[in-house]
Amino acid sequence: MSAVREMIREGTRRLEAAGVANARHESEWLLGRLLNAAPLALYLYEGAVPQDALTQFDAQIAARAAGRPLQYLLKEAQFVGRRFAVVPGVFIPRPETEAVVEAAVIRLRDLEARLGRPLRLLDFGTGSGCIAVTLACELPTCVLVGVELSWNALRIAQGNTERHGCAARVHLVQGWWAEAICGTFDGIIANPPYVPTALVEQLPRDVRHEPRLSLDGGADGMRDLSQLVTQVPRLLAPGGLLVLECGEAQPVQLLRDLQRTPWAESIQVVHDLAGRPRGVVSVRAAII
Ligand code: GLN
Repeated sequence: MSAVREMIREGTRRLEAAGVANARHESEWLLGRLLNAAPLALYLYEGAVPQDALTQFDAQIAARAAGRPLQYLLKEAQFVGRRFAVVPGVFIPRPETEAVVEAAVIRLRDLEARLGRPLRLLDFGTGSGCIAVTLACELPTCVLVGVELSWNALRIAQGNTERHGCAARVHLVQGWWAEAICGTFDGIIANPPYVPTALVEQLPRDVRHEPRLSLDGGADGMRDLSQLVTQVPRLLAPGGLLVLECGEAQPVQLLRDLQRTPWAESIQVVHDLAGRPRGVVSVRAAII
């Protein structure tokens, strides 16, 4: 058996023993990254494996077996078909967020057509920049402001805007939600922390390697979602769209919060492909 096949087999065995679900694929991705080869090309790799790749692979399999997320080891995550740099300390883009962003893009394209001018967008809790960059790429004339508390995340987000060619239209600001910003926007999107504090410790082991700041939404998980609902009217233009990601159990309370405001209309729950509720969209009434 080739050296590479043997390494993949051994890596798979160790990951399986640690309870990693996609052990074989993960083993292939890690080795593929180290040898700069696509997973399938690995099986055609004939030569000897350089010693430093052997050592790094061994260390990465050990880290992955101990629960370090794959994306931190690959230093990259996929989101809506694009690749984003991520490092420890920066929240890893999630598939559930893809569903929310896709729902936002459809509605924002429609809004842009109706307004007949480039949209001004605001992304709260930018993190790696995956939402900001996706919106900027899918709405190629929009201008977007991203607000993020963590300098570490801002640095990564900045790199991701450059990587995807939208740095000139995405402006990153360090600060705390709406306190960081003034002006009016046609669309506001946020994936705030929304996991109830007591549940953070019960999240899967991998997730506990991610920043608590991005996950812990206070006692009922609604702390930041409710704060955003209170803060956004100052920033959202009449007819503008608010898109909030939330936990599966939270749409009911979020709908209630929005229905109580004098400005929110056309309130709808966004579901993912599996039919789970993932977010809520609403529109600021033109006249209030
Ligand atoms: N969906 C994330 C998770 O379950 C939580 C994201 C968040 O709090 N914004 O890991």
